[in-house]
Amino acid sequence: MENLETASSPHLLPALPYAHEALEPYIDARTMLLHHGKHHAGYVAALNAALQAFPDLKERSAPWLLLNPGKLPRAIRTTVLNNAGGHVNHSLFWQAMSPLEGGAPPIGALAIAIVRDFGSLAQFKLQFSEAGGKLFGSGWVWLVRVKKDGGRLQVCTTEGHDNPITEGRYPILVNDVWEHAYYLKHENRRAAYLDGWWSIANWKEASRRFERYATFPERHSGFDGELLRPAVI
Ligand code: MN
Repeated sequence: MENLETASSPHLLPALPYAHEALEPYIDARTMLLHHGKHHAGYVAALNAALQAFPDLKERSAPWLLLNPGKLPRAIRTTVLNNAGGHVNHSLFWQAMSPLEGGAPPIGALAIAIVRDFGSLAQFKLQFSEAGGKLFGSGWVWLVRVKKDGGRLQVCTTEGHDNPITEGRYPILVNDVWEHAYYLKHENRRAAYLDGWWSIANWKEASRRFERYATFPERHSGFDGELLRPAVI
């Protein structure tokens, strides 16, 4: 029997890879409940709704939609890009945190690359936190591996739900600096949220992503399957 829900709703909310309260005290359980169960779920629902009348596009992954804006009908383009971006970014964000690995420093090739490209882990963290703190309005702060320049690491920010893959930059680590990510606990103190976040940053997953993108597939093949894959927690 056909699964009607899957047939009409190609994009699914991934389960959180830990309990809502697992990231306390840095991110409180109620924020996680709303952020995952309402905000992220809302982006998935809006994406599915926008694609409802477009059977060809319903077959496509969320990263594909972001990478092919010219193939989206004008009437739904902005809605699809915003909500596919919200879905992709939040899927990466849940994987970028871990109650178990949080606080453990990066190891291996990623640790070496951070020293090479930023001078030290401390200088990288400073640059990341400053970029996240300075971003005006809603957006994201990223550690990315760039396609050009031999795969160097960079810190960058994106506005709204934009994702750096559209510029040939592959996400290694990401933090959400929309107010809904921290306001219930930290109110207007985004810097306190960013500082505390290092205690739950998932460097094991970041290392896996860094090594995964040692070479850059021309058509971003392989990125699609990343989103719903269980993270290394
Ligand atoms: Mn968010």
